[in-house]
Amino acid sequence: MKEIWLNQSDPNFKFEVANRLGGESLKACFACGACTGACPVKGVNDDFDPRKIIRMILLGLRKEVLGSKLIWYCCLCNTCSFVCPQDVKFSQVMGVLREMAIEDGFVHPSLQDTMKNIDRFFLDLRQKVLFNVLDKKDELIEFDLKEFVKSLL
Ligand code: SF4
Ligand code: SF4
Repeated sequence: MKEIWLNQSDPNFKFEVANRLGGESLKACFACGACTGACPVKGVNDDFDPRKIIRMILLGLRKEVLGSKLIWYCCLCNTCSFVCPQDVKFSQVMGVLREMAIEDGFVHPSLQDTMKNIDRFFLDLRQKVLFNVLDKKDELIEFDLKEFVKSLL
């Protein structure tokens, strides 16, 4: 288990997040964990945990949150918001964190466009697979993941 040094935390971090458009709802979280239980990304990546990310923001762990790859794994599906009893809009909070991660220089601004390309690529693939399944066809789907990843680097 990793140790957390609260004397190195940033007490203003949570206010900075909450003061940005989309970040306000963060303050209402009471850590019930319903978001984590419903999150599809958590289902495939055990390290990803919306409740934990919110706790880390509230604890002022600025570098640990903004410098973490985990904030880019969220697929912005909003499932967490639908189940949240406190109406926390976590996908909007995630948007704020990404914005701040770019501003603080943790990632290059072009990552936003790269994310859009990745999402478009997999949505397109999903359509093709569904087309085959629904029409009971087995047409060859051209899918070169390696080439696609190379094009993003
Ligand atoms: S469901 Fe809402 S209140 Fe519960 S931990 Fe998640 S964000 Fe917080
Ligand atoms: S918006 Fe992100 S955190 Fe919320 S359920 Fe979807 S993937 Fe999980």
